[in-house]
Amino acid sequence: MQHFEKMKYAVLAENELAAKIAARKKELGEKLLILGHHYQHESVFQFADLTGDSLKLAGNAARAADKKYIVFCGVTFMAESADILTSEDQVVLLPDMEAGCSMADMATLDEVESAWRELAVVSDSGIVPVTYVNSSALIKAFVGEKGGSVCTSSNAERVLTWALAQGDKVFFLPDEHLGRNSASALNIPDDQVALWRRGQPLGGNTVEQLAKARVLLWNGYCSVHMEFTAEQVKEWRRKEPGIKIIVHPESRHEVVREADLYGSTEGIIAAVEKSRPGSVWAIGTEVNLVKRLQRQHPDKNIHLLAESSCVCATMSYITPAKLLWVLDNLAERCLVNQIRVEEETAKGARLALERMLAI
Ligand code: SF4
Repeated sequence: MQHFEKMKYAVLAENELAAKIAARKKELGEKLLILGHHYQHESVFQFADLTGDSLKLAGNAARAADKKYIVFCGVTFMAESADILTSEDQVVLLPDMEAGCSMADMATLDEVESAWRELAVVSDSGIVPVTYVNSSALIKAFVGEKGGSVCTSSNAERVLTWALAQGDKVFFLPDEHLGRNSASALNIPDDQVALWRRGQPLGGNTVEQLAKARVLLWNGYCSVHMEFTAEQVKEWRRKEPGIKIIVHPESRHEVVREADLYGSTEGIIAAVEKSRPGSVWAIGTEVNLVKRLQRQHPDKNIHLLAESSCVCATMSYITPAKLLWVLDNLAERCLVNQIRVEEETAKGARLALERMLAI
């Protein structure tokens, strides 16, 4: 069996799929590890042996030396990180190869290399690249080879501080908003932060603007977190005095500024968990996580910040049917949708990941 036979799985009811997945998990036993990102739908998330955000799951994969097969219920860049951090004889599988990340796709290696060449004219004492973990292995490798580091939404400020001490400018990829929110938290003035617009000469800046900038932001974004607005924050405050508003730092700066708190996915979970019963929250992040928090904390009043759907479209490509298809193939000793990062790329990406861990 190789190709996903849609019709074969489409006839199975939800409970039949669930029973078959559970049976396959039992059959594959200790060799198998299923990782589930917080933005996965419950129908898939329920089968994860370990759950977390992208950083936590990469750590889980790195520590799972005894697991031969790692099925990653998340998106491509996460599965790539798992492959980079696991040994040669471990196998990482992604139930749908189309499950990419639109933000990661906004920074291709060609574009970044071309921008890097243009930037060379404005800095004598070094530009340090930093990439958010939501980027391809090729971009991580580029950053690693140029002396830069990976960052996550929980350590971006620390990594930015480190990078600013290494050179006179930081080139922050691919999320404009995480970069801007981190620069603002470090009190870097707005006129020292420039936006590099893809496809425009000098990123749409003058040489003087680039020379003045200490932080250069790539203009990538997450379509889910762009659904949140400062007006929604104000509206919740009008409707629910005393409400606590927490958003992910991939949200626009004006949203983060209006909110009470901002934090990574794990940070949002921790803030809600430690709040007192009866507390009221509006949360600006992917809807599957918000719904899960609502189920887990019936004693708290939890809302999604926006009225729109706030679904990560590519995360939802992972379905129970595709998970079962991967497990059915494994049971027949057939590997489908294996994520393999070429060794030269993995070496550079590992450098950037290891630098982050050392910072
Ligand atoms: S939520 Fe946004 S950043 Fe996360 S995987 Fe989806 S598109 Fe990418």
